[in-house]
Amino acid sequence: MPFDKIIGQEGAKKILKNSLDKGRTVNAYIFSGPDGVGKYLTAKVFAEALNCTEKDKPCGVCISCKKIERDVHPDIKVVDGEETSVKIDQIRELQEDMGLRPYEGHRKVYIIKNAENMTPEASNCLLKTLEEPPEYGVIILITSNYHTLLPTIISRSQVISFYPLSQKDMERFLSVKFKDNPDRIRFFSAFSRGSPGEALKLAEDEEFIELRDMCIDLLKILTNKNNIKEVFMFADGLILRKKRIDEILNILVFLYRDLLLLKTYKKETIIVNADIKEKLIGYAEGLSIESLYRILEIIKGTKESLDSNANFNIVVEVMLAKIMGVYKDELYGSRCPL
Ligand SMILES: [Zn+2]
Repeated sequence: MPFDKIIGQEGAKKILKNSLDKGRTVNAYIFSGPDGVGKYLTAKVFAEALNCTEKDKPCGVCISCKKIERDVHPDIKVVDGEETSVKIDQIRELQEDMGLRPYEGHRKVYIIKNAENMTPEASNCLLKTLEEPPEYGVIILITSNYHTLLPTIISRSQVISFYPLSQKDMERFLSVKFKDNPDRIRFFSAFSRGSPGEALKLAEDEEFIELRDMCIDLLKILTNKNNIKEVFMFADGLILRKKRIDEILNILVFLYRDLLLLKTYKKETIIVNADIKEKLIGYAEGLSIESLYRILEIIKGTKESLDSNANFNIVVEVMLAKIMGVYKDELYGSRCPL
């Protein structure tokens, strides 16, 4: 796969391409940046370039490139620290393997995913390899935060930074998956904060879609009846899905932000939840701009309380009671004491 096929990450691609063109690649790299923005993909493409047999590297079509793309090249190894930490035995195995010359390619490439999860013993062991690597060996450490790595590892590696994709790049990426659905493209690109990996994960996550439907229902309940019983049934739903509270609060923020945008600018083109814009226009009707700001503040306060480890059940119930209060104020014209 040629570098140009990677969407975004122009800076990282430029550095890597330059070092390849000038024959100045190094033995250790740290690819650092948010999850899901293309660090692993870029590492694989770089490994292809290091082993490609054609003139324009990586060509994406030679046997070597194809094998790397399909994860079956014997000289490319991946160590992953996602589930558990990266342990010393895994690094020792890497060291032993690196002692043997490449089987098929020019370079042996070791990609360590979630490198921040290396145990201190594993880090120290890796350091020894970085001190005297064989010329054919390349180690790529992938991490969301390189500052958590040993300073001595950082100083022996070239750090390449990766960033969230721009809205335009995200839309380009998602247009492949959601061809004729601009509403979905806009929703997932806004919600995943510039991370294509996160966008794909969310798009295939049925529970996430359920959570969003639940939140849309809450707006309906609050708008139509503001029925305490139903609102507290929603609270029970939140308690059951405690692990995903950050996403639920983000969904609510995006919904109320959309109501605010509809109310303020009367433009439907800038909202995130464009697929339900008719409903949202209806929900925005009964709320003033001031009330919408109040609700967004309440959700923000809830996030802060949860971050400071306040009692979960109480915090979410208070949030819902306060939001109900805002709706009641709209109806009766007084400010709820909550
Ligand atoms: Zn090739």
